[in-house]
Amino acid sequence: KYESYPYERMQKIREQNIASSLRTYYKKPLLLHQGHMQWLFDHEGRRYLDLFAGIVTVSVGHCHPKVTMATQKQLARLWHTTNIYMYPAIHEYAEKLTSLFPDPLKVVYLTNSGSEANDLAMFMARVHTRNFDIICLRGGYHGGSPYTLGLTSLTPYKHGVANGFGCTTTMLPDVFRGPWGGSHCRDSPVQTVRKCNCTEGACHAKDQYIEQFKDTLNTSVPKTVAGFIAEPIQGVNGAVQYPRNFLKEAYQLIRERGGLCISDEVQTGFGRTGSHFWGFQTHGVVPDIVTLAKGIGNGFPMAAVVTTKEIASSLAQNLHFNTFGGNPLACVVGAAVLDAIEEDGLQKNSEDVGTYLLLELAKLRDKFEIVGDVRGKGLMIGVEMVTDKDSRHPLPAEEINQIWEDCKDMGVLIGRGGLYSQTFRIKPPMCITKRDVDFAVEVFHTALQRHVERAAAK
Ligand code: PMP
Repeated sequence: KYESYPYERMQKIREQNIASSLRTYYKKPLLLHQGHMQWLFDHEGRRYLDLFAGIVTVSVGHCHPKVTMATQKQLARLWHTTNIYMYPAIHEYAEKLTSLFPDPLKVVYLTNSGSEANDLAMFMARVHTRNFDIICLRGGYHGGSPYTLGLTSLTPYKHGVANGFGCTTTMLPDVFRGPWGGSHCRDSPVQTVRKCNCTEGACHAKDQYIEQFKDTLNTSVPKTVAGFIAEPIQGVNGAVQYPRNFLKEAYQLIRERGGLCISDEVQTGFGRTGSHFWGFQTHGVVPDIVTLAKGIGNGFPMAAVVTTKEIASSLAQNLHFNTFGGNPLACVVGAAVLDAIEEDGLQKNSEDVGTYLLLELAKLRDKFEIVGDVRGKGLMIGVEMVTDKDSRHPLPAEEINQIWEDCKDMGVLIGRGGLYSQTFRIKPPMCITKRDVDFAVEVFHTALQRHVERAAAK
């Protein structure tokens, strides 16, 4: 298989013919051969437990048989016509997908990537409200297109060129890194070690963050806005969770100013948070627009914007066209993914296995000074690495890289995130088992132990 393209040759082609902005993971990047459910296999047959699900895209399992079979069947029948004709797949999928949303979110517009979905969501919010400004949170990732880059607030992804006019970034309500702590404020089986001044029934940290949010609205944007976008749990920034009720109050403030609320469910959707199918439900809110990608197609390139009939119809005054969005193949994949989530009980598995994993990781946090925070919900988990829990300085890159490489060498693939790449992101395919968790936690424990030994030997 790899005779005509041995590893070294591929590396050379990468250097010469593939854009270097597309970075690979690890000192010696993996050369993948195959995937099966929660497992990946490299070209030498080594097996890895995939705790990052191909950047959170593999929701039901690599090459899940149900999805593969449905795709193969459709491949032989019809794959892509544009939306100028009708075909059953898109109708079947639109009905199935929207049935999972509360009223009035019943209309879908299918696209091809998360950036494209957020581009469209911004566009819809502006066309519908006839306002321009959109508020977003620090640390959010909403895409890399010039439009959505205005919403993405992470320096590593920013380039010094004009992007996303009318996007205003406001303070991130982060109970671990932020100034007000929040030791029992987040919706997670594991709370942060950072104490706060909350009292029974009143969340001090949330109140402070809402004051900051109001401040932004009162000082930095016009009196009316087009909208507000947030991830229910931040993905690229390392599973950052907000205090309970923050989103609810922020939504209210935006609506008072004529804006629409957009929930970016590109990472949190499809049962990943365990307790609910959509991340926004964990915050007790109903957005006006929801964007979906990644897990929607279990790795197949597809995405969606779900909204109300009224908002969608604002765009209908003129044409808005997308050649590949909602093609029959994508729709069949999307429907098979929804079936697999239901038939395999994956939302419940996310809750059970995710909670188990979080609690096991919390034990490591209590044992190792460099594990600063363990957070998340279901299988959307972050482990933030620090020099020590008091200062919360990010663990230096060479130290965190070594732990990460060690985990890989022992057969566990983990993601990275956060402004300083200081947070391990654990978001496996939702079919992962408790046995896999035991293996992964043992590997992580060994890697941390080795770090302690290295530090002691210095
Ligand atoms: N929103 C979120 C929350 C994301 O994590 C990402 C991708 N990391 C995007 C949007 C953009 O998706 P895509 O890469 O498919 O354009």
